[in-house]
Amino acid sequence: LERGGLARTLSLHLAPYGVGQFLMVTRDITQIERLENTRKDFVANVSHEMRTPLTVLSGFVETLQDMPGDALTDEQRRHYLDLMAQQAHNMQALVADLLTLSSLESTPNREGAPVLVTALVRTALAQAQALSAGQHTFDVRLDETLRILGQDTELASAVGNLLTNAVRYTPAGGAITVLWESTPDGGAAYRVRDTGIGIEPADIPRLTERFFRVDRGRSRATGGTGLGLAIAKHVAMRHEATLDIRSTPGKGSVFSILFPAARVCRPDDLLRAPAQ
Ligand code: ADP
Repeated sequence: LERGGLARTLSLHLAPYGVGQFLMVTRDITQIERLENTRKDFVANVSHEMRTPLTVLSGFVETLQDMPGDALTDEQRRHYLDLMAQQAHNMQALVADLLTLSSLESTPNREGAPVLVTALVRTALAQAQALSAGQHTFDVRLDETLRILGQDTELASAVGNLLTNAVRYTPAGGAITVLWESTPDGGAAYRVRDTGIGIEPADIPRLTERFFRVDRGRSRATGGTGLGLAIAKHVAMRHEATLDIRSTPGKGSVFSILFPAARVCRPDDLLRAPAQ
């Protein structure tokens, strides 16, 4: 076993087991090893993600400290302070997303109560429109009757992440469509369509990995943490839903969360359960 290299993935115990006999117990530790490697990668990534804004921040602080009081115009000083505020904001967003992920992993998955998704979409839409600052058009079609059995704070972060991504990865002048509708199988779909930069087919399967970005510079410059889609996928899974991603490079993308019929509440069902 050892010579064949299998000892790395099998933990092996040999124990005397009666006269002339041995009991061999093997345990496949491939999965444990994989989890351990994922954990190590995650810690390394978090450290790196934290260090980058901190390095930039402390660089600016030192520059300002070293400069004589009259060396900078008010405008230059404000420019430096804006850049510093942006780095601090990126760190705050990263910590907030890490806390969301950690709470998704540590809280038990309860069925929850009927959530009025349209209210969550409207809140997210207000934030996305503020981020867009009038540079995109929004077409919004929401079925007011559909609710989802689940957790409203979790659903809010998934709904919001897909919308802010649409803004961040769509150049000015682009169009964003938001749909909340029933599906033919009795389920419900939340869809965000954009006319943005799109994604190469080879990258699509990796998008929900933590800290995976197609273009690191672009993601950082627009305040991305690299965790938004990992969170959205996790939230979808906790609601028995799937995150579906379709995209054409240079043309745009459609990100959908598809809920099964078992999670959908219609007005009649509400007589039986209190709304959240
Ligand atoms: P980030 O904070 O970097 O946006 P996400 O997990 O939300 O992290 O997304 C991961 C990556 O997926 C992004 O860095 C980007 O490359 C790509 N991506 C996400 N949404 C879109 C979109 N609507 N259009 C094009 N690329 C996208």
